[in-house]
Amino acid sequence: MAVMKPRFLADCNVGRLARWLRALGYDASYHTRIGDAELVREAAAESRVVLTRDRDLTKRRVIQSGVVRAILIRDDDVTKQLRQVFAELGLELKEALTRCIECNSELQPRVPSTVAERVPPYVRMTQSRYSECPDCGRIYWAGTHWQRMREVLAGL
Ligand SMILES: [Zn+2]
Repeated sequence: MAVMKPRFLADCNVGRLARWLRALGYDASYHTRIGDAELVREAAAESRVVLTRDRDLTKRRVIQSGVVRAILIRDDDVTKQLRQVFAELGLELKEALTRCIECNSELQPRVPSTVAERVPPYVRMTQSRYSECPDCGRIYWAGTHWQRMREVLAGL
């Protein structure tokens, strides 16, 4: 049986981690300001794994009892944070470029001709695969940014 892909809810103190998870294709919600009670409620309602650096938050009864799963992030470094999440949930690095880093929406594939006007000329000359965020209109392509990210994550 295929394991369901986890969805995340990042606490205010791990915003960068949320962006990286999105970049790796994971649904990771993040609100710049959210109270603990609201955060836990949203995680419970949407079956999301809470990511936080706040130990007190993880002492809440819904989390202690296992109704809501939470991961207490140990490190400041986002690469180590990612490694911790991947290790604790037994995740594998598979798809990238499927979700908008800014708004967590699923990207849609685009043929080059529809995005040509909106990407820099050097990108147009070297890239043939693009995706677009249906919400903010940001265009993504497999450029150096992604290569660098893959290198960073090679240790996962
Ligand atoms: Zn977007």
